[in-house]
Amino acid sequence: MNIHEYQAKELLGRFGVPVPKGNIAFTPAEAVEASKEFLSEDGGVCVVKAQIHAGGRGKAGGVKLVRSTDEVLEAAKSILGTTLVTHQTGPEGKEVRKLLIEEGCDIKRELYLGLVVDRASERVAVMASPEGGMEIEVVAAKTPEKIFKEIIDPATGLIPFQGRKLAFALGLEKPSINKFVKLLTNLYTAFTASDCAMVEINPLVVTGDGDLIALDAKLGFDDSALFRHKDIEALRDLDEEDPCETEAARYDLNYVSLDGHIGCMVNGAGLAMATMDIIKLYGGNPANFLDVGGGAQQEQVTAAFKILVSDPRVKGLFVNIFGGIMRCDIIAEGIVAAAKEVGLTVPLVVRLQGTNVDEGKAILADSGIDIITADKMDDAARLAVEAAQ
Ligand code: ADP
Ligand code: MG
Repeated sequence: MNIHEYQAKELLGRFGVPVPKGNIAFTPAEAVEASKEFLSEDGGVCVVKAQIHAGGRGKAGGVKLVRSTDEVLEAAKSILGTTLVTHQTGPEGKEVRKLLIEEGCDIKRELYLGLVVDRASERVAVMASPEGGMEIEVVAAKTPEKIFKEIIDPATGLIPFQGRKLAFALGLEKPSINKFVKLLTNLYTAFTASDCAMVEINPLVVTGDGDLIALDAKLGFDDSALFRHKDIEALRDLDEEDPCETEAARYDLNYVSLDGHIGCMVNGAGLAMATMDIIKLYGGNPANFLDVGGGAQQEQVTAAFKILVSDPRVKGLFVNIFGGIMRCDIIAEGIVAAAKEVGLTVPLVVRLQGTNVDEGKAILADSGIDIITADKMDDAARLAVEAAQ
């Protein structure tokens, strides 16, 4: 689960990570009111920041530096309600529903600081780079020598010398070094105490006074640990999440949205991966990964089918089931029930094999629904790609 920048800053602030002062606003009038704390008759600077679950807002026009309440009003009006398209939102973009009005910061340097769970070492890794404000993926691809890494031993936690090592690598000057070590220590505590999956501060800025401030903050949490953080779970913003994924979670389905046009319903993660591969092989693109699980009930199958049909990008459906524990007749009943309820507007290709396959096929054949069937996965995938064109 991800949260907004303003929520992330509030959380990090509680752990002693320095963040700018800011207020949240839902309307242009609220934005003006929120900015008064930072603007005075004789000047002051504040920043109007779109709150969406994606980075790259600055380049897309979602972060505006302003110097008067008139400018705040203008910026708020121009950003609120628009759909921001950044390199992290995908082409459909994300609608801006709220703004963070933040005090302006005197930026001397922009650094990058990230904490992630490193699968190879099975530990938390700290990544720091003097190339802040940039997309870290680009830095990693073009100048990997500019990313410095420290792996943290969970038994000792972050050791101050690791912080100092990174501080030197970043070229920080004396008064900032201890501030960096303290900030990183607090950030690591926030990470572990909140069961984060990743924390990204980009940029971490050095101010003219040598202070360090987290000017942007992105936090992702381990979904499996959310049950012990009710306060964090309450920060969930369903507007920012894929409605298909939210609906799938309600039915305990393993569903991940992708950007293709063939909706897939498969049982077993391995078969689901193989199905996506074979769709690609025949020149198609899967719209999702969906594993209905080994012991799915008819209700789950129906829900899964409805989720696929509700996705406007889906131009064809491909059901690929190997009945082991899962019975083909249960799948067939679920499909027929859902198709009758929501109607079928796109071609449907079904391939069933395994337990109760004959019963399953009979249910489909007797349903009166227009279904393309195939016995082999290969044929079925080819038919699905053709039908969806
Ligand atoms: P994103 O990563 O989505 O583009 P950021 O929060 O990193 O959004 O903001 C983009 C840039 O805007 C920052 O790199 C920084 O230069 C500037 N900026 C952001 N917040 C402030 C602030 N409070 N004061 C001054 N400049 C800011
Ligand atoms: Mg940023």
